[in-house]
Amino acid sequence: MPEDRQIVVVGAGPAGSTAARYAAEAGADVVLIDRRTIIGRPVQCAGYLPTPGELAEMLPDVPDQDELYQVDDSFVLARTYESVMVSPKGRKKTLRFDGMTIDRGEWDPHLVDLAVKAGAEFRPSTQAIGLEQGVLRTDRGDLIPGVVIAADGPHSRIRGSVGLPDPKLIAPALNAPSKMLHSGKVEMHFAAEAPGAYGWVIPTGQGMAHVGLGADPRRKVGDLKANLESFAARVGAELGPVTGGFVPSAGPVKRTVSGNVMLVGDAAGHVMASNGGGVPIALATGRAAGQVASRTLSGSGDLSDYQRRWRAEVGDVLATSARFRWAAGQPIWSPLAMDMAMWAFPKSQMLRALKCQRIFWIY
Ligand SMILES: Cc1cc2nc3c(=O)[nH]c(=O)nc-3n(C[C@H](O)[C@H](O)[C@H](O)COP(=O)(O)OP(=O)(O)OC[C@H]3O[C@@H](n4cnc5c(N)ncnc54)[C@H](O)[C@@H]3O)c2cc1C
Repeated sequence: MPEDRQIVVVGAGPAGSTAARYAAEAGADVVLIDRRTIIGRPVQCAGYLPTPGELAEMLPDVPDQDELYQVDDSFVLARTYESVMVSPKGRKKTLRFDGMTIDRGEWDPHLVDLAVKAGAEFRPSTQAIGLEQGVLRTDRGDLIPGVVIAADGPHSRIRGSVGLPDPKLIAPALNAPSKMLHSGKVEMHFAAEAPGAYGWVIPTGQGMAHVGLGADPRRKVGDLKANLESFAARVGAELGPVTGGFVPSAGPVKRTVSGNVMLVGDAAGHVMASNGGGVPIALATGRAAGQVASRTLSGSGDLSDYQRRWRAEVGDVLATSARFRWAAGQPIWSPLAMDMAMWAFPKSQMLRALKCQRIFWIY
């Protein structure tokens, strides 16, 4: 027999676990499912987060940030204080920016624990197959949810099964924990190996860093793994096991609510498109979805409030970031043109771009 549940959250990444936590805290009956058996593994993310102080400046419209963005030291692999922008010809500009690298293999299960402590039921090894006429089919039986929160990543199945739009651009990215003598700073390389995106070095501790890159699939990319190997050799890194995934890279989808379904996190394209940072946005939109879902079920709201709420909290930053990504993806950016632009660009504006703030206060 299908099971009646008030809220079913599909996907226990940062967006889904946070949605489940806040919905359960508000008293709703919540079940959180994920196809993975071990949450957070394999790690498919570089784990870089701006510090809470930087996030307060970058996301000024997200309320009550302390409870969302404080990360316990036990999950922090390294702290960084500067980011170096490296042009295709190796020209460097160093920007003051505080960040940390977290261990998502440990942190993602902790977010599930928070949801469970708040009262949500967690079911690992449970894959959603689709939503048909109000029934959520999974490989472990059917559920009849009052509300479905689809937090099932960039290629969301639930999104497709209710006819909500796909993100306009989903870009591939690779990452590998690597041995290297790094400077202790984050490096962003606008390198030929990462057409329309960038390669990164993100310290994870003494003599270790995440080394990775993304690419715009509309450009001539070639073999991304070979590109990563070439990039790693250039920065002096010895690559460990390479993992990867996909990053929605053209801003949020236009509609994130249909019937009793809400999209959150990567499933909704909720990623800062210009730098690929999705975790802080996933936490904010996950909380909004969880709270709106529980209010709707108790009769004091409507699911469409979610769309208004995420737009108010993170809509501006997502739109600005998507504009940067669009501009950076244009074919005019030959290595020489990129090199000259990075030379001419004032550091103050580069820092604004890094923080996804309008540059020269207009673009
Ligand atoms: C290589 C790479 C590096 C990145 N580096 C960074 C970074 O340094 N900093 C940053 O902020 N962001 C980074 N990101 C982006 C970041 O990983 C995502 O934005 C973030 O994980 C989004 O969270 P989410 O909860 O929406 O989705 P996810 O973390 O993708 O979680 C989705 C969950 O849904 C589950 N799922 C999927 N389909 C189903 C199904 N049918 N049934 C049940 N469960 C399902 C999956 O198993 C998964 O656990 C990176 C991405 C990539 C690919």
